[in-house]
Amino acid sequence: MNSTMKTKVVIAGGGTAGWLTAYTLVTRLGGLLDITLVESDQIGTVGVGEATIPTLRTFHRLIGIDEQEFMQATQATFKLGIMFDNWGQQGDSYVHSFGEIGQRSWMVEFHEFWMEAQAQGFGGSLEDYCLELKAAKANKFATQVGKKALNFAYHMDATAYAQYLRQKSEAAGVKRIEGRIDGVQLDSDSGNISQLILDDGAQIGGDVFIDCTGFRALLIGEHLGVEFEDWSHWLAADRAIAVQTQATESPPPYTRSIAHPAGWQWRIPLQSRVGNGIVYSSRYLSDDEALHTLTSNLTGQPTSEPRQLGFKTGRRHKSWHKNCIAIGLSSGFLEPLESTSIHLVTTALLRLMKLFPFAGKSVLLAERFNQETQLELETIRDFVILHYHLTQRDDSQFWRDYRNMPVPESLSHRMAIFSENAYVWPDDVALFRVDSWVQVMMGQGLMPAQHHGASRMLNADGLKQQLMALKHMNDKILAQLPSHADFIQQYCPAPNG
Ligand SMILES: Cc1cc2nc3c(=O)[nH]c(=O)nc-3n(C[C@H](O)[C@H](O)[C@H](O)COP(=O)(O)OP(=O)(O)OC[C@H]3O[C@@H](n4cnc5c(N)ncnc54)[C@H](O)[C@@H]3O)c2cc1C
Repeated sequence: MNSTMKTKVVIAGGGTAGWLTAYTLVTRLGGLLDITLVESDQIGTVGVGEATIPTLRTFHRLIGIDEQEFMQATQATFKLGIMFDNWGQQGDSYVHSFGEIGQRSWMVEFHEFWMEAQAQGFGGSLEDYCLELKAAKANKFATQVGKKALNFAYHMDATAYAQYLRQKSEAAGVKRIEGRIDGVQLDSDSGNISQLILDDGAQIGGDVFIDCTGFRALLIGEHLGVEFEDWSHWLAADRAIAVQTQATESPPPYTRSIAHPAGWQWRIPLQSRVGNGIVYSSRYLSDDEALHTLTSNLTGQPTSEPRQLGFKTGRRHKSWHKNCIAIGLSSGFLEPLESTSIHLVTTALLRLMKLFPFAGKSVLLAERFNQETQLELETIRDFVILHYHLTQRDDSQFWRDYRNMPVPESLSHRMAIFSENAYVWPDDVALFRVDSWVQVMMGQGLMPAQHHGASRMLNADGLKQQLMALKHMNDKILAQLPSHADFIQQYCPAPNG
C-alpha cells in the first residue's frame, strides 16, 4: 500500500452493520480512505434490530449523529430498560433497567446495604432506589431533570435507521454499488481478497474488505473458510418470527420480554407502531405453534405479514482474517434478549478504527481484534444464558432443560459467589455493570445467603435515614418527569408518529 494513497475499503452488505460501518469510517477516517459499499436489493436486509442499549448514544456522539434528527428519522422512542415477564416463574415480572441502584460505594455494593436493611425489617423494594426503573414503570421520561441525567437507549425502526445512515454516508462521500456479489478473487500469494465479482461481471478491488453480509458471512465464511463456533448447546433458540402491529397505547419507555412455555416474545414500542417477535428453538416448538403463540399475544392489529427468520447462535473463530473484517451478523450472533447486536457492531468499529491496518501488516492487529471480540461475545453469552438457566419454571421440557443444563464455568462461578456472599463485579468488557447482574439475578429469584459484614457498621437508624433520603430524592425527580409520550412530542416527534 502506498502511504500517500488512500486505503481502498470495500464494504460488502448494506444492512445496519454495513451502513453504520460506512458512516463511521467516512466521518472519522474519511480523509484517509476511499470507501465503496456493495449491497443487493434482491437479497435485502434482516430488517429487525430495533432495541438498543445506552452505549449507542456515546457512539452516535462520536460520529456526530444528532439525537433529535436521528429519532425523528427512525420513529424512535426512549428505552430505560427491559421488563422481563414470566422468566423466574410464570406470573412474575422484573425490570433490568439502565439506571444505577442507590449509591455507589467502593467496598460494599448498594444491594448489600439493602439486604442488611431487609434483615432488620425495613428498606422496601430494591426497585425504589433506581430512578430509571421507577420512571419506566410510571411511563415517564426526560433526558435530564436539573442536574440528574437519566441513562437511556432507544427503540427505532431498523429499516429507517439503515436508510438514514445510507443517506448521510452517501452525502459524506461513500460510493454505493447496487449488485449481487457472486464471487471473490483471492491473491494467490497472500490469500487476501483482491476483488469482489458482481453478478454483472463488475470487479470491485480493494485493500481492506469488510464483511457485513449478515448471517451468510459471504466473505469471511464462504470464501475465506473461517469456521463458526456453535453455541446452540447453551442457547437453543434458532428461529424467530417478526410482525409489526398498530400501537394501542402510548409507547412505554422500555422493551418487553415475555417468556412463553418454549421461547419468548419481544414487544418494542416505536412512535408509530409496535415491533413484535417470538424467539424460539425448533427443537422444542414448531413454526406453526410459534406463530400461534405470537399472534395470540399481540396487543394491536398486525400491519405486516409475519416474517420467519432462522439463525445460528455462536461466533466466527476469527472476525478478522487476512484483509477481511467481519462486522455484524457475519461475525456472530447472540439472540436479542439483551439487545446487544448493534452494540457489538459499534464496539467492532471502535476496535477497527484503533487497529486499522494502514501499514498493510495486519497479523498482530487481527490477533488483538479477535481476542477482544471473543471476550466480549463470551461475556454477553454468559449474561444471556443466565436468564434462561436461572429459572424456577417447571412447566415445559424447554425450561426444565435450561434449569438443568451445565453452564460455562465463568457463569457458574459468578452465580456461586453471588449465591453465597452477594458479591458481584462488573464484567471484563465493562458492558454489564454490577447493577445489571444484580437486577437479573435477584429478579429471577437468586437471593444471596449472606452479604458483606461492613453493611452492619452503620447503625439501624443511620441506614434507615440514608435509604429514606435516596428514595425521597428519586420520588422528587419522578414527580417532575413528563410522560414519555409528552416528552417525545416536544423533543423528537416523527412526521408520521
Ligand atoms: C430476530 C432478531 C432480532 C433482533 N433484534 C435485535 C435488537 O433488538 N437489537 C439489536 O441490537 N440487534 C438485534 N438483532 C440483530 C440486528 O438485526 C443486526 O445486528 C443488525 O441488523 C445488523 O445486521 P447486518 O447488517 O449484519 O445484516 P443484514 O441486515 O442481514 O444485512 C446484510 C446485507 O448484506 C447484503 N448481502 C448479503 N449477501 C449479499 C450478496 N451476495 N451480494 C450483495 N449484498 C449482499 C444484503 O443485501 C444486506 O444489505 C436481531 C436479530 C434477529 C435475527
